[in-house]
Amino acid sequence: MENQQIQWMGLYPEELKQRLAQMGEKPFRAGQVFSWLHKGARFEEMTNLSLSLREKLAEIGMDQPVAVRETRVSKLDGTKKFLFALPDGNCVEGVLMRYHYGATLCISTQVGCKMGCRFCASTLEGCLRNLTAAEMLGEVQCAHAEMKGERVHNIVLMGSGEPMDNYDEVVRYLRLVSHPEGLNIGLRHISVSTCGLVPQMKRFADEGLPVTLSLSLHAPNDAIRKQIMPIAQRYTIGETLDTCRYYIEKTGRRVVMEYALIDGVNASIACAEELADRLRGMQCHVNLIPLNTVKERNLFGVTEKQVQDFLSVLEKRRISATRRREMGDDIEGACGQLRKKVLQEEQA
Ligand code: SAH
Repeated sequence: MENQQIQWMGLYPEELKQRLAQMGEKPFRAGQVFSWLHKGARFEEMTNLSLSLREKLAEIGMDQPVAVRETRVSKLDGTKKFLFALPDGNCVEGVLMRYHYGATLCISTQVGCKMGCRFCASTLEGCLRNLTAAEMLGEVQCAHAEMKGERVHNIVLMGSGEPMDNYDEVVRYLRLVSHPEGLNIGLRHISVSTCGLVPQMKRFADEGLPVTLSLSLHAPNDAIRKQIMPIAQRYTIGETLDTCRYYIEKTGRRVVMEYALIDGVNASIACAEELADRLRGMQCHVNLIPLNTVKERNLFGVTEKQVQDFLSVLEKRRISATRRREMGDDIEGACGQLRKKVLQEEQA
């Protein structure tokens, strides 16, 4: 489906200039249109534009690229889960979490995912398509519209989808969302999470974007990683961590290692020791994630004591590590879970 605003919002100011020039408009209009679009304004609200330009723009079309289809609020911690509707009828999830340092929005980058990680609900139905930069911007705009004047402070690309598998639109999104005339969310407040697509990670290190890179590591060795993550068949942990070292060298930023503890798979003390060996001397931080059980796959999380035992091994070995707080546990907070549930309800 053609949706003009989608295309317009995904344009860099220089590209917008060209579009407007084709319509016989002056170059300086591009900056005005850019900042209005990124505020989420409709063309008729763009009051510093000439009426004729507003009319021309309105004729082209002004549908919002993304709308909120459903919202669930956690009674436990106020976490909000959104189901976003895309113009083609697909939907993706986003989660808004309140931390003491500000609101963090988790956005999706693809409809579904094709990476096939065994513990992840987003990948059960495969990947239907990539999201455009404008749709990802739309997720942030929708959150702002629900936040009553408050603003998103941090963004994590940890919803459904593999950001490095939608490389061009993700990089475009990062440049646009951080643009001073747009939403102006600092790149240092953005985390991009990947299951470890090595060539794209290398390329990403060279983009010069000071975002935080998170690697979904989830295992201390290739044998265990292969059991739970198909990507481990393609790239070894050795080369993946070397790529992280390259990222650290190029950007000066530490990499975050995501590690979901799965009972009987990767949560033993021996695993913790092996992980510490692997990460020794690396400028990184380990984020221990209690697994959200995916019943279909028979994978289960661990007890609080197991988390603490694993954590204390890492601490003893001087590996920086914390346990991630669970949020929105009562609202299908984990990626892919709400979309899956709504799709199931629809089918029933
Ligand atoms: N594709 C990217 C980003 C999306 S997943 C990636 O793999 O990193 C975001 C994070 O949630 C990843 O660390 C992923 O491994 C983790 N995750 C997925 N399913 C989970 C589950 N059931 N419990 C805990 N974490 C999970």
